[in-house]
Amino acid sequence: MCNRWSALVVSMLCVGISNMMATMPRTPLGMPNINLTCYMNSGLQSLYQVVPLTKGLLSQSPDYYKAGSLARAYQQFVRSYTSSSTPIIDRSVVDVFYKDLTPHLSRVTVEAMQDVTEITGKLLESLQRDMAVEGHATLSPFIFDTESRAVCKTCGTVSEKKSTNNSLNVRSSRAETLRGCLEAYFSKEVVTQMCRNFNCPQSGYAKVVETFLAEVGKKDESLYVSLLSHDEDLKTYLLTDFNIRKAVTHVGLSPDVVTKLNKMLDEQVYTVAGSDRKINLVDFLNENKNTAMDQTVALLTLPQSFFISVNRPQQDTKRVSFVLEKLDVGTYLKAKKPEEYYYLQAVVMYNGGHYWAYVQNNGQWYKCDDTRTEPIDSGRMQKIADDGGDTGGYAYALFYQKGAPATVSTSTNMPKKLLYDMQSDLTVLAGKIR
Ligand SMILES: [Zn+2]
Repeated sequence: MCNRWSALVVSMLCVGISNMMATMPRTPLGMPNINLTCYMNSGLQSLYQVVPLTKGLLSQSPDYYKAGSLARAYQQFVRSYTSSSTPIIDRSVVDVFYKDLTPHLSRVTVEAMQDVTEITGKLLESLQRDMAVEGHATLSPFIFDTESRAVCKTCGTVSEKKSTNNSLNVRSSRAETLRGCLEAYFSKEVVTQMCRNFNCPQSGYAKVVETFLAEVGKKDESLYVSLLSHDEDLKTYLLTDFNIRKAVTHVGLSPDVVTKLNKMLDEQVYTVAGSDRKINLVDFLNENKNTAMDQTVALLTLPQSFFISVNRPQQDTKRVSFVLEKLDVGTYLKAKKPEEYYYLQAVVMYNGGHYWAYVQNNGQWYKCDDTRTEPIDSGRMQKIADDGGDTGGYAYALFYQKGAPATVSTSTNMPKKLLYDMQSDLTVLAGKIR
């Protein structure tokens, strides 16, 4: 076969494969470690394989997101990753993205800077904000709603709070399986907090205001009379923000009255029962406002992609085993719905000093360890999921996908590993031909 003919075949194959992959995550690339950035590399190598996110970003035009936004920067990174003609992504691409990412991490502590779940959580938070482009549905596949529900053991009052989340942190000191971590997170626990019922006999606002006013009345009659005219405002304020000092300064009291009240709040007016410890009224109220509550958390909606983190592995941490297929989270929905299955797309491992990832692309598992990537057979992957195998690593951050993973069908019956090698060779060749 003449050289020109073989080059043509190679380029046709390349075009075929790259077209097929154009809107899907490609096989993983190595990433250079810039200043101990294995925590970031493993996170990005994992996130890249989250099909709905990468697919969504690749199908948008490069100017879809606002200039300067993290969504635009991450989209550019994903595009460069996808079109890379070398098996290790160019150092400058990583450098540029890390520089773009840094301003979005302003409130991350130095310790958390080295933490893949903290950084990925921040990244997803910024992406969610940036991806809520006006007039378009948000692209972020990680969003889901939860409800936390607390029932007062004293008066039975139910307090519910809904929140929107990007990630689920199911840290548990006892559980040794991901399922166990989830069970612990979603099961009932007794917490001590303030009951939101104005009339709760244990910790209600009515009692707080009553105690406060009685105390004032005992000490200063004219102040008491002046406060009574603000009583309802005080109660209303306290209902929304339990802070008695803030309340007296926010209900329109004269500066003179506020000064007097603050002085009174600071005075040592209470002796703690059973000791000779003296505390002021504010501390007294703070110490007596809490009551036992039964608290539960439930999912209201399910995300397309679940970013779940477990205990940060340390010396005394239990190793958490995880499942590759059919993680059922339907039982944690408020309206229970069994058989809502999730499939593992990527997992970041940690051994106390180094991070690396196992990612799944088109049904094939790969190990990604900074610049080194290699296919992993499914038996070995199962062993790693069960007990870490011989890796010495602990699962830390997991990326699950709702429903069976999308696979791009190929017209060949070649083993996946061979196909991977061929794709790598072809991308390298394609780079040389261009
Ligand atoms: Zn109560």
